[in-house]
Amino acid sequence: MSPRRSALVPLLCVVLTLPGLTGCNARPPSQPAASTPAEPEAMPSSTSPAAQDTPTTDPAVDLSGRTIAIDPGHNGGNASHPNKIARPVPDGRGGTKACNTTGTATDTDYPETDFNWGVAQKLERELEDAGAEVVMSRDDNTGVGPCVDERGTFADDADLMVSIHANGSESATPKGFHVIVAEPGSSEAVEDDSNRLADAMSKALADQFTPNSAYGKNAISRRPDLAGLNNASVPAVIVECGEMRNPDEAETMESKSGQQKYAEALMQGIVDWY
Ligand SMILES: [Zn+2]
Repeated sequence: MSPRRSALVPLLCVVLTLPGLTGCNARPPSQPAASTPAEPEAMPSSTSPAAQDTPTTDPAVDLSGRTIAIDPGHNGGNASHPNKIARPVPDGRGGTKACNTTGTATDTDYPETDFNWGVAQKLERELEDAGAEVVMSRDDNTGVGPCVDERGTFADDADLMVSIHANGSESATPKGFHVIVAEPGSSEAVEDDSNRLADAMSKALADQFTPNSAYGKNAISRRPDLAGLNNASVPAVIVECGEMRNPDEAETMESKSGQQKYAEALMQGIVDWY
């Protein structure tokens, strides 16, 4: 599958954030968008009250010239093709790992891949509204793969990569997000920038969600065994947004409004990283 990519944009820009504006919806709906630098035709004109259709451009955030890679974990067709996703691929550390997995689900069988895809689409829109170029690891939620090695390398020229997942624990008790970063990274510079990205993501998510410190200080887990991160040549993190078997978090993750909240938190983490 070839990555989707919008038109190239100039490389120089300045990221501006106004004090007190912490989300991407900080502009009140009644405020005119005339001062918004982004082209208005990029925003769908919709009369739907649904949260995902509300224009979300924040004039305080300008990501023009920035390229962000988003990897929505797993894929909707993985479960129907066990042999394809079981085939070994390079793990980025000289070994091999299964191409992909099916992901987890809530107790009501809402699949992780649907949640990941929903948040990724909303984050893509937030980023594009702010002028960024977005590269996605997959184009839909019905295919198979791509394999974990491609998920690390699909956007070698991006500034950073965010892989979106949700966790599935045995018990329904664990709650909260955690962020995973490769240790060691593919280079010292990538490792440093990935650690900064993990810090930014953890702080932004903690404004609205519960950090699960069982995975490490500030809910950041450093692991050598995740092929997507090991194969990444750009700063990269996996965000496990929450626990799908926790009933409270499952309810949030299954809702469009909950997915929008996750997307806005990830957006804030990206802006803070820059
Ligand atoms: Zn996952």
